[in-house]
Amino acid sequence: MKRKVASRRLNRTCICCNKSFVKGEIYYIERNVLKEFGEIFACEYLVCPRCKYENERKGERRKQFIESGKCHHPITDEIWKTIAGEDYVKEPSHTECCICGEVV
Ligand SMILES: [Zn+2]
Ligand SMILES: [Zn+2]
Repeated sequence: MKRKVASRRLNRTCICCNKSFVKGEIYYIERNVLKEFGEIFACEYLVCPRCKYENERKGERRKQFIESGKCHHPITDEIWKTIAGEDYVKEPSHTECCICGEVV
């Protein structure tokens, strides 16, 4: 994530809170390059300093929670996987905790 200063009013807004940026304001830009189906997609999004901070704090808290081993896996999700040799046919593979990602 790159820190930048708006040189003019930006057309794009913060992806999290929809805040707009005027000249002189600090914003962060994140560029993701995805490769799917043999094609490359680049997507860029802007994040305001407040949302960046919030996300980092949440990420840190989540990490501490997981590392402490306190997760009782309250929310689980069935993970479906594509069957080997098939392109679109999926079958249930396993159940995963949505919070810590452990297989339950
Ligand atoms: Zn924001
Ligand atoms: Zn869990």
